[in-house]
Amino acid sequence: RFVALALLTSFISVVAGQLRPLPAAGLPGDLFNLGIASRLRTDGNATARASTDFGQMVTAAPEAVFHPRTPADIAALIRFSASSPAPFPVAPRGQGHSWRGQSLAPGGVVVDMRSMGRGRRGARINVSAAGAEPYVDAGGEQLWIDVLRATLRHGLAPRVWTDYLRLTVGGTLSNAGIGGQAFRHGPQIANVHELDVVTGTGEMVTCSRDKNSDLFFAALGGLGQFGVITRARIMLETAPKRVRWVRLAYTDVVTFTKDQEFLISDRAREVGFNYVEGQVQLNRSFAEGPKSTPFFSATDLNRLAKLALRKGSAAIYYIEGAMYYNEDDPESVDQKMEALLDNLSFEPGFVFTKDVTFVQFLDRVLEEERVLRSAGVWEVPHPWLNLFVPRSRILDFDNGVFKGLLRDANPAGIILMYPMNKDKWDDRMTAMTPTDDEDVFYAVSLLWSALSVDEVVKLERENESVMNLCDKAGIKWKQYLPHHTSQDGWQQHFGAKWGKITELKAKYDPQAILSPGQKIFPSRA
Ligand code: FAD
Repeated sequence: RFVALALLTSFISVVAGQLRPLPAAGLPGDLFNLGIASRLRTDGNATARASTDFGQMVTAAPEAVFHPRTPADIAALIRFSASSPAPFPVAPRGQGHSWRGQSLAPGGVVVDMRSMGRGRRGARINVSAAGAEPYVDAGGEQLWIDVLRATLRHGLAPRVWTDYLRLTVGGTLSNAGIGGQAFRHGPQIANVHELDVVTGTGEMVTCSRDKNSDLFFAALGGLGQFGVITRARIMLETAPKRVRWVRLAYTDVVTFTKDQEFLISDRAREVGFNYVEGQVQLNRSFAEGPKSTPFFSATDLNRLAKLALRKGSAAIYYIEGAMYYNEDDPESVDQKMEALLDNLSFEPGFVFTKDVTFVQFLDRVLEEERVLRSAGVWEVPHPWLNLFVPRSRILDFDNGVFKGLLRDANPAGIILMYPMNKDKWDDRMTAMTPTDDEDVFYAVSLLWSALSVDEVVKLERENESVMNLCDKAGIKWKQYLPHHTSQDGWQQHFGAKWGKITELKAKYDPQAILSPGQKIFPSRA
């Protein structure tokens, strides 16, 4: 009878949880008397889902998950924590697509941002198409794919994209949001006019370059430390209909980087690609990796493997470029592409071309996700490492890492390597770039999937070795989507900005309750 009673009680508490959840031991009891209490969930199902992230490298349970319907709900929760004698941590969670526990709130409350737009598709995406400078107001919880769909209905689209679109607006703007268009327009954070932010004191503030500008610059790239972004006003441009998408193969890193840097230079701006990225394929992956990919057929990969062998190169480098165009002008894209390729020194005959719609191009990683999911290698640990490396040291990096440390390695995953123009970044924002005077730096992303616990350990060790190698060689690298385990590490990361960042933290989140998973400020909670 006791078992039956216990089951009944737990059933009632789950059903009633929709109305008023059982208080969680680690949270103040008064929280459960607030008007917003019915949006809290304390049951194990809810907290387990918010206990880890895409990376699966960290697990830590919150006491509760909060499902806000409006920014005012978030403000009420944060105000309560910040003014409580026992403040608790609060972490907004977009898709939880970070990989070091950044969106977790051990012992506190995870705010499931997606609930603000759930079931009301596009309800918090408003396009203003009329003026000379069109823009979209998008909720911080919205996925970029939904922003794309909504803006395309007006023939418009944001200018800069991450490679993957199932990320949230607030999540990428809290980092920077980089991709192949950033060389022209800067990262996503440089393409924002205005934000609504709920600060760490629970105040709802609208900010821009002219209004409450310190909060605006702090929140962009701010790793969730100064407030929750609930709306962003994002610049738009006319959207193309189609994309000519190419990969060009290189065996020599000097030629590869020279061509990449030409493609992002002012000289190539008018005649060049709208998007420039690059990849590195280590030699062993030809023999041991997948036999085809969503981009390359088995025949393509065979040819490339033979090329690597013939040239005796440690890796094949690809420039990935995209040229936007409209259906009514296909000939001009042919001519433009031909003229551009004439200026580049890739391996003769090694041009791989696709012609796709704009949406197919921007949403290309979805296809990779499907392939990886069906192979069972999407939901596995991801010990990713993303670095920004100054242009002057990229060849040293290549030599030490791809031709040295990883020469005989074959981890599952991909390696990205592409340059960006530093003058497109706004140094008043919190996001960091390499601090020297160079005008170009490279993003190098080691996007590993670990298929066993041993591999996690091995890849973590390799990542450490990459950073140690850079330190020893005096390469002034910065981490993108940074992760540091000590405050010293963070101090070094932010360098001269550290003082300003601690001031802004004291002003906008004095109890240090926000996004504790970043581990930048010791939580007073
Ligand atoms: P979460 O992981 O949920 O949150 C990230 C951090 O931001 C946390 O600290 C969280 O507390 C905070 N946060 C979340 N929402 C808000 C908000 N509204 N206001 C304030 N803080 C908030 N990044 C790129 O720049 N370019 C890429 O091309 C790219 N490709 C990717 C591809 C894949 C497959 C994956 C998994 C990630 C990729 N990323 C890329 C990284 C991505 O930008 C980060 O993971 C980012 O954190 C966005 O994920 P999210 O929306 O799930 O945020």
